[in-house]
Amino acid sequence: MGLTKTDVLEKAKALNVKFIRLQFTDILGVVKNVAIPLQSLEAALDGQIMFDGSSIEGFVRIEESDMYLDPDPDTFAIFPWSPPEGMTARLMCDIKHPDGSPFAGDPRTTLKRVLREAHELGYDITVGPEPEFFLFERDKDGKATNRTVDQAGYFDLSPVDLGEDVRREIVLTLEQMGIGIEATHHEVSPGQHEIDLRYADALRTADNIVTFRFVARTVALQRNFHATFMPKPLQGVNGSGLHLHQALFKDGVNAFQDPKHPDGISKIGLRYIAGLIEHAKAFTAITNPLINSYKRLVPGYEAPVYIAWSMGNRSPMIRVPQARGEATRIELRSPDPSCNPYLALAVTIKAGLDGIKRKLDAPAPVSRNIYRMHEHERREYGIENLPEDLAEALDYFEKDNVMREALGEHIFSRFLEAKRIEWEIYRQQVHDWEIDQYLTVY
Ligand code: GLN
Ligand code: MG
Ligand code: MG
Ligand code: MG
Repeated sequence: MGLTKTDVLEKAKALNVKFIRLQFTDILGVVKNVAIPLQSLEAALDGQIMFDGSSIEGFVRIEESDMYLDPDPDTFAIFPWSPPEGMTARLMCDIKHPDGSPFAGDPRTTLKRVLREAHELGYDITVGPEPEFFLFERDKDGKATNRTVDQAGYFDLSPVDLGEDVRREIVLTLEQMGIGIEATHHEVSPGQHEIDLRYADALRTADNIVTFRFVARTVALQRNFHATFMPKPLQGVNGSGLHLHQALFKDGVNAFQDPKHPDGISKIGLRYIAGLIEHAKAFTAITNPLINSYKRLVPGYEAPVYIAWSMGNRSPMIRVPQARGEATRIELRSPDPSCNPYLALAVTIKAGLDGIKRKLDAPAPVSRNIYRMHEHERREYGIENLPEDLAEALDYFEKDNVMREALGEHIFSRFLEAKRIEWEIYRQQVHDWEIDQYLTVY
């Protein structure tokens, strides 16, 4: 796009914008915003809007709380649902210190730093995300439930699927905001949907995922639904993933393709895969950040459990879709939509680049359904498991210096601290399952 500050000012006036929301995310990926009137837009574009960073999760202590927002003009978009008399637009922002230096606790700045490193190695990175989510009913008080209105399944069509209207509305809204949609369908579970966003450069894709989640929630609320990106809201059916299709480009040419190689994948592509495999256990803490995330990563629900890659089979963590040439890419299937997309892309891209830098060799692809392999067979192939719970993922994360480097000390340590606390609270709960299992037996 390449919008300038002047373009944004002109657009805002032409579209009769009254308010601008300056958006950013905290470490956990929750969108925050400061609303300003049109009169302050110019000052905002000059990076003069301040906020108190000490109230934001994982940011800073009170003594150093003054933070400045630095909007990215390219992210200017109107909220299509705003009333004509109160037209509202948004800008995604980086966060800066009062002296103009980048703030180490800003996830967007962190992803930019990793992308700069990729760029220095000669690569631009394109990502196509496939977010899945559930649409649930609200009760008569408007409270979210985990009841679904429909009983539809994979690729089913109305009239069974009442959520279809909401999904269509989400897609139309995203398109009005300039986010391209590749495809959309009902997913396997009742009430579950998928909207595949068009691939874009990694930073834009992270912005788009954040916007998508926000739009889906807003549109669902307007229709008295609740859209959730919780990875496994219903037991016994598929959970929600956020498959990330990633490709590297060098001088505008897809660097993962190699027509001379029997599989059509380049050495660079294989090393990128090797890097992802090498750091999989550690980056899972970021790509699957909730206690609930690990209830999805179990056998039998089309979510990966094993650290392996394959050409077509969907049971491993990485799949290389059929497409070759400029569309050659890898599909990372373990992330879930509760992650902070900036951090998830920062750590996975950093892992792939580490594979390239260290010239790691990828193991042989696995063509069989790994779910059906015996444990001893998996051991023979050297196939390891993804972490079984958040605590295990955090242990791997804590020991991985590439993760530390990807996120920087500030985010690395604060994320770890917040998640350890989350685990500790969870660990102390007595769950219904335990009462059911033990109360009368012992
Ligand atoms: N819902 C599955 C997951 O958790 C994916 C299903 C699919 O897209 N085929 O990743
Ligand atoms: Mg899909
Ligand atoms: Mg899917
Ligand atoms: Mg997919």
